[in-house]
Amino acid sequence: MKIAFIGLGNMGGGMAANLVKAGHEVNAFDLADEALRSAAEHGCSVFDDAGAACEGVDAVVTMLPNGGIVKSVYQNSVFGHAPAGAILLDCSTIDVATARDVIAAAEAAGYDMVDAPVSGGIAAANGGTLTFMVGGTEKAFERASEVLDPMGKAVIHAGAAGAGQTAKICNNMLLAITMIGTAEAMTMAKKLGLDPQKFYEISSVSSGYNWSLNAYTPLPGVGVQSPADNDYQGGFATALMLKDLRLAMEAADSVNATTVLGSTAAELYEKFAEANGGLDFSAIIKTL
Ligand code: NAD
Repeated sequence: MKIAFIGLGNMGGGMAANLVKAGHEVNAFDLADEALRSAAEHGCSVFDDAGAACEGVDAVVTMLPNGGIVKSVYQNSVFGHAPAGAILLDCSTIDVATARDVIAAAEAAGYDMVDAPVSGGIAAANGGTLTFMVGGTEKAFERASEVLDPMGKAVIHAGAAGAGQTAKICNNMLLAITMIGTAEAMTMAKKLGLDPQKFYEISSVSSGYNWSLNAYTPLPGVGVQSPADNDYQGGFATALMLKDLRLAMEAADSVNATTVLGSTAAELYEKFAEANGGLDFSAIIKTL
């Protein structure tokens, strides 16, 4: 397939490289010269205009910072430039309402489109092991899967347009809550004189087991290897967790959902991110 890829930053760069590796022809566009240089090194054809990159393609993939940018890129550079019948995939994490609006506009313009945000960070993007949560019609999902397969280990149809973004922000809200809960329990156990490693050994096979404890233990030297063992460098940046929590809070408000723990987690990450946005999100344990 011939695929336009717009937004080749930390995540998009590796994703586009995996499409090339799978034998696709990739037209790359990004505002940053550095991103384009790297894309060329990975075998992409580089364009200095997003609209031109979309001419004659079978599919368009976007991996961009936020909903405002996604909306303007589709309106100004994808619709009318990509051939009618091309499949469009937005893999960015954006708000549910914008995702639905852009997909409705795409359908009105004659395109199949999905929202397909990802779980997994830069390493998973580079390694082709992302999980894609896809929103859109059955037909759009089937067409999108062909494009997504080489970039991921799992491609899951979440439901109608916007369902991918819904799954993503609900998942990450839950992750923030379990991380803070795990951090609280480990710190309290330690303060009560229990060896944190013993707490890990017990709780990780008891009813307290959860991903933050079992697969991402937030204390250095305890449990599994995680960013905590690397001074909280790498991993999933606090600033990105905060972005997802803000989207989750906006979505919760829009449907009057009760999110007592989600709101508390969002407040704690707002505060922590002020000085620690670059640290892995598990570093929030340091505030306890
Ligand atoms: P990034 O900032 O590294 O990359 C975004 C890229 O988009 C940049 O290269 C930027 O130059 C480009 N860009 C911005 N505006 C543009 C425009 N108008 N036209 C073309 N290019 C434009 O961000 P990232 O970490 O790659 O994240 C991308 C998306 O993936 C975000 O929505 C983020 O929330 C989501 N995400 C990131 C991670 C992660 O670990 N980094 C994990 C899951 C999801």
